Amino acid sequence: MTSPNGHSAAELFERAPYALTYNDIILMPGYIDFAPADVDLSTRLTRNISLRRPLVSSPMDTVTEHRMAISLALQGGIGVIHYNCTIDEQVAQVRKVRRFENGFILDPLVLSPEHTIADIHRIKQQHGFSGIPITEDGTLKTKLVGMVTNRDVDFENDRSRKLAEVMTRDLVTAKKGITLVEANELLRHSKKGKLPVVDGQGRLVALTSRRDLRKNRDFPDATKDEGKNLMVGAAISTKDEDRDRMAALADAGVSVVVIDSAQGDNIYQHDMIKWIKKHHPQVQVIGGNIVTAEQAENLIKAGADALRIGMGPGSICTTQEIMAVGRSQGTAVYYAARAAKKHGVPVIADGGISVIGQIMKALALGASTVMCGSLFAGTEESPGDYVYRDGVRLKVYRGMASLDAMKAGGNKRYFTENKDIKVAQGVSGYVQDRGNMVDLVSYLSQGLRLALQDAGVRSVAALHEASESGKLRFELRSPSAQREGGVHDLYSYTQPDAFSNQRNS
Ligand code: IMP
Repeated sequence: MTSPNGHSAAELFERAPYALTYNDIILMPGYIDFAPADVDLSTRLTRNISLRRPLVSSPMDTVTEHRMAISLALQGGIGVIHYNCTIDEQVAQVRKVRRFENGFILDPLVLSPEHTIADIHRIKQQHGFSGIPITEDGTLKTKLVGMVTNRDVDFENDRSRKLAEVMTRDLVTAKKGITLVEANELLRHSKKGKLPVVDGQGRLVALTSRRDLRKNRDFPDATKDEGKNLMVGAAISTKDEDRDRMAALADAGVSVVVIDSAQGDNIYQHDMIKWIKKHHPQVQVIGGNIVTAEQAENLIKAGADALRIGMGPGSICTTQEIMAVGRSQGTAVYYAARAAKKHGVPVIADGGISVIGQIMKALALGASTVMCGSLFAGTEESPGDYVYRDGVRLKVYRGMASLDAMKAGGNKRYFTENKDIKVAQGVSGYVQDRGNMVDLVSYLSQGLRLALQDAGVRSVAALHEASESGKLRFELRSPSAQREGGVHDLYSYTQPDAFSNQRNS
């Protein structure tokens, strides 16, 4: 059936003979009386966390470590650090994000006068910064006695020299309680790279930096908490031993955790959510993955602050084939989002996003954000190096349940750890170079504004409202309609931009 102006989402999804994917549907245009620049892409990640862009990077070891999380958070999205590593390694990643671009760095790395120039080089290599405060005993508990910067060690060939011999003792410091604006003013006047903040006893309590100041200006949409720290997510499993991981992540200042199960409606996850809500109430919890209304109800009852939707749509995913359990992503998002909405809980459409149109469709079906793996895996900010195959620049991208990732410890989400027989539910492959995240997120954001404008809505919130009220209209696309909607009948053509190598949304 068709009708003059298309159908409401309810008419389409609840009467469709099959579960639908993004590619099965298309939106009808709306009335436009505003410019793309007027479109607001703000949205909610969880009950308590808002974002300026509906973009989340997937907790996969070829997608999200600190560089991805920093870049995405600076631009208004958020990254979720993977847990295919030790607790210490994951915590170090979280700390790097939390440390980055702070108005005040609240737990700066410090050394003592007894440390050597080699220690400064090591920190620079590991963390990328070099202005290190020196305290009496190398902890934050004792008095600040100096600073060591690049300038103090640049021409020193003897790396074993003690910092006591090279540090700058003549310091410009600020008093605890200083505002960020005042601190920035002091930095400007002192012409120093770093401004240490000390308490009444001369102990270091924070650090502000000129570099951070510059970056603060450049990214007005950054996802930050009240302390001006970038927000970051981290994934954990449902296993009991990950309660230690959770505690360490909370200690490192993680804003939100994703409990990573392929089929999230399980007793272990319910217990884990309840435990986190009791012991770490300041951390938001994303439950999942789920695909039905009943599963959504169950995880919300356990205390989830957001839900992650998807079982099978991932580009590297073989779950639906191997397990015969899952759901087409359009239908999964539609039903789960509507169930969660009743409780004020936002949902994340996870997997199967390769073009802007699919982000638009996920949001139109009620998702508040999308989680991306393959789309971000080819960027400079993802872990791993570029390789060339047939002259094409590529990066490895692998499912966390691929044999490769499982060997490295990544099968925690699939209940198979420590078993001799591994059943892979994902593959390992390559994705094409997608440049850097700043360009990619700008491209996705502008495309999304144009898509919302075509649909006649000014914001993600308005899109949700229009979808629920039935004002937003949809239609089914036959396979030939899908072909018609893509490029066809050309001998050859050039892609219009670097990010559109899969255009058939
Ligand atoms: P993509 O954006 O389409 O590449 O999908 C990414 C999503 O696939 C992730 O966020 C996970 O939900 C899911 N995923 C990751 N690894 C695997 C796997 O090995 N098998 C199935 N799904 C996976």
